[in-house]
Amino acid sequence: MKYYDLIIIGSGPAGLSSAQYASRSNLSTLVIDSPLPNSQLMNIWELENYPGVYPAVNGFDFLTTMQNQAKDFGATIENHQIEKIEKDESSKKFVISCQDEEFSCKAIIVATGAKHRKLEITGEKEFSGKGVSYCATCDGPFFRNKTVVVVGGGDSACSEAEYLSSLCSKVIIVHRKSQFRAQKTLANRVLSNSKIQVIFNSSVLSIQGNEKIEFVEIQNLQDNSIQKIQTDGVFIFVGMIPQTELFENLKKDEQGYILTDEKMQTSQKGIFCAGDVRSKPFRQIVTATSDGAIASHSASEYIKELNNEVYL
Ligand code: NAP
Repeated sequence: MKYYDLIIIGSGPAGLSSAQYASRSNLSTLVIDSPLPNSQLMNIWELENYPGVYPAVNGFDFLTTMQNQAKDFGATIENHQIEKIEKDESSKKFVISCQDEEFSCKAIIVATGAKHRKLEITGEKEFSGKGVSYCATCDGPFFRNKTVVVVGGGDSACSEAEYLSSLCSKVIIVHRKSQFRAQKTLANRVLSNSKIQVIFNSSVLSIQGNEKIEFVEIQNLQDNSIQKIQTDGVFIFVGMIPQTELFENLKKDEQGYILTDEKMQTSQKGIFCAGDVRSKPFRQIVTATSDGAIASHSASEYIKELNNEVYL
């Protein structure tokens, strides 16, 4: 068993910001991510709204810099499949059991983020990886000079549609409402992009084709009419699902996001939470890194108290 003061679960912007702050304040810090980490940041082509980072940078490069920064301050970053997390009430330490190793720590920061929501329509699963994608940066280049449909109306749908318009001959956004949920500047850029067509008030009913995608069936939600739209690919950005499988006992909001107080303390003492998995009104990289810094500070205070209390 390996011992750490703090273990952070998740290596996106919230986890790495926590790691940087914790290791810089001399806590022995381990970041654990799954064997196939997939921070949303890795899929951002151009990060243009992080204060002080200008001109825009690529999300993957930004994440790599954050990893190097955390490691240079002393944090260890490893990949393991976590199976269970238990607390030993006598020592007040947590034991994190992974498939290949066990770790013990005094405090935990949950920074597991959120994963892509599926549309759950005919053709989505069948064509997944064969024309249906949840990542424009990863799969956009396969659709160079082709037509793609983007589903959704939030920041992800709009920014990914904008990126796809730099590669594809045509991008068609299908959104169920009459306006975008995305930030105004981004939404306005999308609406004035000559390579992007926007179909509002419509939902995608099915994705169809033989060997490859040929068309999607969409329904106008105002008059219920149905039409077919020819396309080579479908990019789905219809929101996120918080990754909380390991934390059934923590209190959550009605959408399943983990509840914390303003110090990022969850309903269980010693477990803190940061980033997109946390219940909050605004999910951005800047709010994730801010959460991480606060969670790390609170975990550090908690560990100091614990050391006095149980003389570890
Ligand atoms: P989101 O903001 O939750 O938007 C999801 C979109 O998908 C909404 O327009 C929603 O429609 C639509 N939708 C949901 N379920 C649907 C369904 N079953 N069928 C059709 N449409 C459906 O999700 P997101 O765009 O992935 O963003 C997630 C978070 O990350 C947000 O907080 C966002 O601000 C943040 N983000 C930030 C940046 C950035 O800072 N640059 C980039 C990407 C994401 P309704 O509008 O009708 O609800």
